[in-house]
Amino acid sequence: MAKAKNVELIALQCTECKRRNYTTKKNKRNSQGKLELQKYCRFDRKHTLHKETKIK
Ligand SMILES: [Zn+2]
Repeated sequence: MAKAKNVELIALQCTECKRRNYTTKKNKRNSQGKLELQKYCRFDRKHTLHKETKIK
């Protein structure tokens, strides 16, 4: 098992419908600030901007 010391589990939330469509892992050491990604939202049926949110 790989060590996950600096890895944080996050959710990616669609900025249009506010649904959490994806979960991913983020390396805190490599990425500062909030993640923002263009991802496909199946509810909007198009690519939208997804922003990092906390899980839970
Ligand atoms: Zn959406």
